Amino acid sequence: MSSNITWHASSLKREERETLLSSKGVVIWLTGLSGSGKSTIARALELCLVRHGIFAYGLDGDNIRFGLCSDLGFSAEDRAENIRRIGSVAQLFCDAGTVCICSFVSPYQKDRDAVRNRMNGRFVEVHVDCSVETCAERDPKGLYRRAMAGEIPNFTGVSAPYEAPRQPEIHIDTTRVSIDDAVQKIWDYLFTKELIAVPFSAR
Ligand code: ADP
Repeated sequence: MSSNITWHASSLKREERETLLSSKGVVIWLTGLSGSGKSTIARALELCLVRHGIFAYGLDGDNIRFGLCSDLGFSAEDRAENIRRIGSVAQLFCDAGTVCICSFVSPYQKDRDAVRNRMNGRFVEVHVDCSVETCAERDPKGLYRRAMAGEIPNFTGVSAPYEAPRQPEIHIDTTRVSIDDAVQKIWDYLFTKELIAVPFSAR
């Protein structure tokens, strides 16, 4: 890092911004195997929040790799850098008063914890849990078939590890919980913990 740079603080404190905008920033971090349902739940949650007048925006694994992280692969080092960059962007969304819904395999606990540790309590880890067998049956992108044929190296759950969250705020088993119920579960948590600013008209 250059020594010729200085941090410029905003002229607004978080509380002031959130009060003036009637919004609240938080990072919802969905982690789980490919095909477990992260993107599906994230899209449904984003729609639900925005329809209730809440600023929300989804960052998705594949989409981010088209741009911000297009130079990274799937080694442990590249995955760590991928999550570090995304965490940094999510923090900006959160500072701006937006619910930032992040859906990333993010297989390593220490990478997820590093994001959590910079979020000052505004971090909700959601384990989107589903067995490798069911994910491979769903195989929405045909990746398991290719990974099991040895065509994709370092594929999480097949040829690379997945470290399940030790103490996620929310656990969703998508073999038992429907998409709508998953959204409801996350909504209930956010509402109960006062992590979202729900407009009175939407309550
Ligand atoms: P990921 O983002 O975790 O890689 P996707 O959301 O892209 O996974 O794909 C998950 C697939 O599983 C989708 O085709 C989705 O419709 C399906 N699915 C079946 N049941 C559920 C459920 N209860 N929750 C989420 N997705 C489900």
